[in-house]
Order: sequence, then C-alpha cells, then structure tokens
Amino acid sequence: MNKPGFTSKIIHSDRRNVIEHGSIHKPVHTAVTYAYDDARDLAAVFQGREAGYSYGRQVNPTVTALQDKISLMEEGIATAAFATGMAAIGTTLFALLRKGDHFISSSYLFGNTNSLFNTFASHGIEITFVDATDVAEVEAAIQENTRLVFVETIANPRTQVADLEKIGDLCELKELVYFVDNTMTTPYLFRPKSVKASLVINSLTKYIGGHANALGGAVTELGNFDWSRFDNLYDNYKKGDPASWAITQIKKKGLRDFGASMSAEAAHHISVGSDTLALRMQRACSNAQQLTTYLDQHEKVSRVYYPGLVGHPQHSLAAKLFAQPGALFSIELNDDIDCFDFINHLDLVICTSNLGDTRSLAIPVAHSIYYEMGPERRASMGIVDSLVRFSVGIEEIDDLLADFEQALT
Ligand SMILES: *Cc1c(COP(=O)(O)O)cnc(C)c1O
Repeated sequence: MNKPGFTSKIIHSDRRNVIEHGSIHKPVHTAVTYAYDDARDLAAVFQGREAGYSYGRQVNPTVTALQDKISLMEEGIATAAFATGMAAIGTTLFALLRKGDHFISSSYLFGNTNSLFNTFASHGIEITFVDATDVAEVEAAIQENTRLVFVETIANPRTQVADLEKIGDLCELKELVYFVDNTMTTPYLFRPKSVKASLVINSLTKYIGGHANALGGAVTELGNFDWSRFDNLYDNYKKGDPASWAITQIKKKGLRDFGASMSAEAAHHISVGSDTLALRMQRACSNAQQLTTYLDQHEKVSRVYYPGLVGHPQHSLAAKLFAQPGALFSIELNDDIDCFDFINHLDLVICTSNLGDTRSLAIPVAHSIYYEMGPERRASMGIVDSLVRFSVGIEEIDDLLADFEQALT
C-alpha cells in the first residue's frame, strides 16, 4: 500500500483516533477534571494501569490528540505537550538531570534557552557551551558526569547548523542522551530521529502552530536511547518497554509536578495551524532563498547568513540533512546604515520578536532578544550590533522583494 505523505498523515490523524460524533477536529475539552463511576477505574488511571484522564494539569483529550499528531510528524513513540517551548526544554531537563550532573550545549542558542541553562548552572547542574558545528568540540567537552548533549538544528540568529549526524554517532558511542531542538527546521524539513536523537523538542508557537495565536511546546521520545542504562529514572516509571520510561518521568516529575500544562484551546489552535505546516514551509523557505539571493548581491548589505546560500559554512551539510534550508536568515548592513532606520523603513515586514509566523518579521537582535546576555556572550555567538534577523513569511515574493528594495533605497 502507498505510504501516506507528511500532510496526508497529519490532517487525518484526529479522525483516525477516538473522536466524538465523527467531528473532523478533535473537540476542545475544557473540563479540568474527569469523573469515574467506579472508583477502581480511577485508581487504575492513577496507577498507570489504564489510559484515561484524571486532572487537567496532567493531560486532556484535546492535548492528547495534538501530542499524537506531533508523534506522527516526528515518527516518535510518545509526546508530552507543554504550555510553551521553554517549558518543554526546562521541564525535561529538570525531570531527567540531577545535582552534580553535567551536560553539553551548543553555544549557539535561542536567547531564553541560554538564560535558562545558566539558571541550571546556579542550581548545581554543570554545563559546558561548545561550538556544535564541530563534533570534536563536543567530544572534547565530555566528562565523567556528562549525561546529555543539547543542540539546535539551525541556530538563531546566525543560522549555524550543528554537526547533527556526527554528534548523533558520538552520543550513541558514549551513551549520552541526545536532545535536539527542531524548532527552526520542524519535522517537515528534518527528523532528528534520522541522526539518532533521543529526544526532540519543538516550540509549537513557531512554525508548527504558525499563526502567532497560541503558545505551546512539545517533547517527543524517538526510541533511539536505551533508558535502562540511564541512572536518573525512578523505579516507579520503569515499567514496560524502556523506550517509554523517560517520557513517563518527564510527564510525571516534569509536567505534572511543575504544571506548565498546555490549554485545550491552545492545542486546538496549534493543531489546526499544523494542517498547513508543509505548505507554509515550502513557501516561506522558497521566499527566504530568493530574498537572501537578492540581498547577498546588494551593495548596502555586507553579510547575509542563510544556510541556503553557497557561501554559508554549513551549506552542504544543510543541503544533505534538510528538505529545504529553513525560513530564517540574518543580515549585517554597511557601517553607514543604521539598522533601526532600515527596519523602520520596511512596510510589509513587521518589527517584532516572534518567528515562524505566516507574516514576515524583522528584529534588531543585539538590542532586543539578545540584549540581556551582554556584549561578551553576544560576541561569542557572532552577534554584532547591526545584525537584523528575519523570519520569512508566506507573502508573495514580489511584494517582499519590493519592500526590501524600497527600504534599502
Ligand atoms: C521560540 C523558541 C523556543 C521557545 O519556545 P516558546 O514557545 O517561545 O517558549 C525554543 N527554541 C527555539 C529554537 C525557539 O525559536
């Protein structure tokens, strides 16, 4: 039988699961608590012997439907959804790591992830930041107490591509958990499972939801790691197939105890948005390729960072790993041009901090999202004051080109 494609699979996923009244969307369940006629059934749900719902902080039927959809996208085993992408990252590390553990992170990171990791460091979890475009740097940072390696696929804002395949091989060899942030590529462009990642996090707020109308995050277990060799799991959660032990602990010790739960309304918005993920990504990536090709030759633009350009240091790696090179790029303008002036002259492109929206967005990164980390850390990430980041949307390319042209003129 023909294997269904990405979109065919996800847009029919709700109705192929348990669904009420033949509804084509999973209904929005707003109840916080779920009642049982037989107290023994309630006990079975609490003890994990039966699937079911108890209290909304743990999960809800609308959120479950979205979790199943993300698992399908990532070809994973199970997914935990959270209120935000940050909650997904923070809660997962909180649930899996202990005081005295060490983990390695790419130094090219989303700003809040960088801030969060520094907080972990002040709570007794050691961390080493490395240049993850080079697997040798990751290997050199491994210590006795290293548990995990964290990388982003395409880093924000300078678009460095991590050495994803080789880091996967290294993690397998050294029995380290490989935790990949796939937000920038999405499971449509790239499946971290293919490079042996253990866990993948997606900020659903970005491309997957895609319309800047709901916050969400998800962590998916990919089935590549042997959790029976991981000391930090509690006996309570070591039941059945070891592949599900860690995600169970993430759901219990993380989501349940921390309480950063996704609302049913957010799950509904994200789920509807995700129907068109592939279409939006195709259009946005094609727009980004054409815009960067134009800007790369523009006399007022000194640098363009986009993995789709031949001059990008990881261009061939990106071409090999990703279906398309993403829809995010950044530029540096000539010294005599003020980046604020330039952004103010853009008309179609909106000045704001989000990314992965249907609309094209611009932000002066050093002065906003990367301001708090200070000049030294910014310099280590290659972020100069004039750097402007763009998240390309799905507008018609001629309109985007015209907007850049008039703003640069
Ligand atoms: C936005 C983002 C996050 C955090 O997601 P939120 O939903 O905003 O909390 C994490 N990683 C990357 C790469 C992001 O772009």
